[in-house]
This record gives sequence, structure tokens and C-alpha cells, in this order.
Amino acid sequence: MSKKSKKIIVVEDNRAINAMLVDSLKNELGIEIATATTLAESKVIVEKNPKSLFLAILDLNLPDAPKGEVVDYMLENSIPSIVLTANTDDCIQSTFVNKGVIDYVNKSNLNEIQYVVDTARRLYENFDRKALVVDDSDVSRMLLATLLEKQNLKVLEAINGVQALKLLKIHKDISLVITDYNMPKMDGMELIYNIRKDHSRDELAVIGISSTDDNIVSVKLLKSGANDFISRPFAHEEFNCRINQNIDAITNYKKVRDASIKDYLTDLYNRKYMFETGTKLFHNAKRDNIKLTAAMIDIDHFKRVNDTHGHHVGDLALKHVSSILTEELRDGDILARMGGEEFCILCINLETASAAIVFERARKAIEENPLALEDLDIAITISIGYTSDLVDSLDQMINNADSALYDAKHTGRNKVVSFSK
Ligand code: GH3
Ligand code: MG
Ligand code: MG
Repeated sequence: MSKKSKKIIVVEDNRAINAMLVDSLKNELGIEIATATTLAESKVIVEKNPKSLFLAILDLNLPDAPKGEVVDYMLENSIPSIVLTANTDDCIQSTFVNKGVIDYVNKSNLNEIQYVVDTARRLYENFDRKALVVDDSDVSRMLLATLLEKQNLKVLEAINGVQALKLLKIHKDISLVITDYNMPKMDGMELIYNIRKDHSRDELAVIGISSTDDNIVSVKLLKSGANDFISRPFAHEEFNCRINQNIDAITNYKKVRDASIKDYLTDLYNRKYMFETGTKLFHNAKRDNIKLTAAMIDIDHFKRVNDTHGHHVGDLALKHVSSILTEELRDGDILARMGGEEFCILCINLETASAAIVFERARKAIEENPLALEDLDIAITISIGYTSDLVDSLDQMINNADSALYDAKHTGRNKVVSFSK
């Protein structure tokens, strides 16, 4: 089942809290939220959605279920649950944690409502995250894997550091490593030391774990580059808190980094990133005799789209064009929004003959896929100018691509033109 079809159910008979939760969850996650105010209504929703509910947010006191019966019902149906309580009685907490709920929050505190939304977002985003567990003991590896899977993470397992490094090479998208200290072949400290040669603390979170009482182990692991340390035995709640904090830290770092190199509207790279990375590519290409192609793209008569349908639709058109261009290009190509309705593409190792084919295919893809709104389709076309001549500088290459684009515009638009002197 795709991530997009996943849903959350909110069961709360207090209308104000219910509405606030549903609104925040919808806005921040952009997914469907089912809602109920009684146990009976909840049952109908669960029966209608046997696979898609990945989280239940539950009030303990409902008109037809005053003693938290809805929690038992959700857990029987294997739906991970967060409990909303009106007090923070330790006894209630331990009862529900023992039953297996993910978390419990005090709903009279607005900050805790935001905490529920943050937890829901993390659980949803975790469907796309991979974690690696490294431990030579089958039993503890399985326990760690199970705890991570409960947080929706995809889990890979290794029995020592050597195997772990191999897996990290294959799965570039691992974002979290949990490693034991004592292991044959390569222990946790040496593993972390090796991981840090290629992955910074900001991009890959590593948590060391060990059952020894020796304080020196935690210090060794942290000094070799671990983000955090957990000592065994640990409470599952502590484990979950640390995992979550570390995932949040690398996610926030990525957001800050993306904000400085990406365009807010389209999520493409921005002009600054294009010039910084492009200049490096250009010098490598010159030095090592590598092919480099630069293309400038401009949407045709874009002003008319804004004038006829409004700025909002113009923005949708920019996103639409961006996503088609992204699909048409290879992963290694750099696609940036230079400003307005202008884009730039840099491609490495594109044969001169292939360049014409690639850009023509992109032009045609835009022409053939109008922007589909609820009540109308808006046809969009683009013009492209490109060059593969490595002249004196990247700036000059881009100017040449721009001059080819100018020719495309003045000879009818909706076409691809190669630069010629
Ligand atoms: P041509 O085919 O010659 O390129 O014509 P054009 O209308 O596309 O070109 P022009 O440069 O005259 O107009 C570009 C328009 O793009 C004008 C500007 O308001 C609009 N624009 C620039 N940035 C944005 C944006 O972020 N959102 C929206 N909706 N419009 C934008
Ligand atoms: Mg234009
Ligand atoms: Mg323009």
C-alpha cells in the first residue's frame, strides 16, 4: 500500500480538541484524517479501512466507552495508538504503556497537542526512512529491529561492523544506525570511526549501545563520532525518545540545508546552488575532458497564464513544469530554477547527439501534459536553448545557451535550439 493512501483516525468526543487535531494533522501531513466521537463510530471506520490506518489518536473517556475500551479495540486490530489523557497519573501511564500504546499525552496542554502532531508526522515520514541495526546477538538485534519497525522505519540488519559498512555502501538512503559495542571482526567504535569518513553527524545519526557498566565505553563511542549512546538495559520509552530526537535533529539539519540551496516554490535547486556546483563541474570537465551540457529553459507566454488564470495558477504551472522536467532528467543532472519562469539544466557526459534528443523529449513531455485543474486543462509549452561547447567559463556557456533560447523564442517558441556561433 502506498504511503499516500495511509490514514490516521482521531477518536475524541470533545469537538474543539477533535477539530483542532484534525485541522493540524491535515495541514501538516496533507493526508486523509478519519474522525469519530464514539467507540461505535470508530469500529465502523476501522472495518471500512482494514489496512490503511497507521495511527489512532484516542480519548480514554468516550460516551459509549468510559474506561479506555477504544484503546484495547485499536490494539486488538494492530493499529498503533497514542492516548489522550486528561491527567498525568503515573498509574494510567504505566497501564497503557504496558498495553503497548506508542505514547500518551495530556490533552489539556496545547504544547502536547503539537507534540501529537509532530509524532504523527514523524511516524508518517518514517515510512520513507531506513535504519540499520548492527549487533552480533540475534536476540538483541531482533529486539532493536522490532522497536524500530514499530516506529514504521524500514530496518536492515548486520552482525558486525564489516557487514554494516557494506550495507551502508549499497543503501545510500540509510538515515540512522544503531550499533552494539562488543562485536567480533569490527567493534562499534571502529565501525563508527569508519562511518564518519564518509557520513557526517548531521546527515547520518549513529547511536551506540552497550550493556557494559563501564562509563568509558560511552565516552569512546561518542568520541569516535556517535550522535548518542544508550546503555542496556533500557526502558523502551527511553529508546524511542532517543531515536526520535536523533531523527528530528538530522531532519532539521536537512531542512536548513535545503532552504539555502533549494527554491521554495518548486523544490528545485536555486540559482546560487547551480552556479556554485556548476562552476566545480565546469572546472572538472575542462581538466578531465568530460562532456558538459548547459541548457536554458523558459516557459512560453507565461504572463498570459498569470493574466488569464491568476498568480496562484501560475505557481501551479511552475510546479507542474518542474516536476515533468525532473522526471525527464537523470538523477545526476542539475536542474535549477534561475528565477521567474526560467530554468537551467547542467548535464554531465551527455553525447552531443543525445542532447538534442533529451531536450526534445522534455519539450514534448510538457506540450503533451497540460496542467490539469478541476474544471479545465491549461496547455503549456517551453522553449529550450543549449550548448555543449566548453568555452572559457560557466557564465559564458550559460550566456550561449541563453542566446540559443532567444533564437527559439524569436523563431516561433515551443522548440529546442542548439547554440551556434
Ligand atoms: P515569453 O514566451 O517571451 O517568455 O513570454 P512570457 O510571458 O513567458 O515572458 P515574460 O518575461 O514577459 O513574463 C514572465 C512572467 O512570469 C511575468 C511574471 O509575473 C511571471 N512570474 C515570475 N515569477 C513568477 C512566480 O513565482 N509565480 C508566478 N505565478 N508568476 C511569476
Ligand atoms: Mg517566458
Ligand atoms: Mg522570462
